[in-house]
Amino acid sequence: LEHGRHFEGTTKNYRKDGTAFEMEWTIAPVRNDDGRITHYVALQRDVTERKRLLEMLRHQALIDGLTGALNRDETQRLLSLEIERARRYGTDLSIVIFDIDHFKAVNDKFGHNLGDEVLASIAETVRPRMRTTDHFGRWGGEEFVALLPQTALEGAQAFAEDLRGRIAALAFRDGVRVTASFGVAARADESDGTTLIARADQALYASKNGGRNQVSRAVGEETA
Ligand code: GH3
Ligand code: MG
Ligand code: MG
Repeated sequence: LEHGRHFEGTTKNYRKDGTAFEMEWTIAPVRNDDGRITHYVALQRDVTERKRLLEMLRHQALIDGLTGALNRDETQRLLSLEIERARRYGTDLSIVIFDIDHFKAVNDKFGHNLGDEVLASIAETVRPRMRTTDHFGRWGGEEFVALLPQTALEGAQAFAEDLRGRIAALAFRDGVRVTASFGVAARADESDGTTLIARADQALYASKNGGRNQVSRAVGEETA
């Protein structure tokens, strides 16, 4: 403003009752015929609503609507990030993948709506078990993945075993119950996201082949 230019910016402002809101400012100098600044015109706009919409859009871009879990893209992004971090600091990182058993039969017999309820309930069951540094994502239709930083294979296995029991204990309408099969893998020194997921996936399929409703550990190198 001192240099005679206009100003645009967003600042936090406060209402009379002390609550904060986002305010967008535009201040423009007004000149007289000699070119001298005689006035300023200031426009103040409450952009709380715009900010809320932006945050909602951001949320929708990252979160799966049905379950509230992270979507696949965001899960993948965080997996790479956590692998990078674990490698840099030499810390543990484990992942747990699980897939609902015979889920197609639940949909076929009881309807897609109940299937959706089952997915949402499972996510609700898992979420409170997560630490704040963990991540929980919906990897596919009825397949979920938990990323557990600073967790070695044994810890991840115990975590998976706990989830397995909690999911098997859920009861839905019409007497519907479900189980899930789990695969657990820990980061090896040369792991990238794809190989870590692939190893957990192999363990998951071992659980399926072993009779479902069980937890299997990935074979191969484990964290040094
Ligand atoms: P398995 O024990 O081998 O995993 O058998 P499955 O029936 O669970 O496996 P399959 O991959 O054949 O079926 C997965 C089913 O998950 C098929 C699909 O209709 C259902 N599904 C995927 N996404 C959703 C969803 O968002 N809502 C509902 N209700 N069902 C879904
Ligand atoms: Mg399944
Ligand atoms: Mg599946």
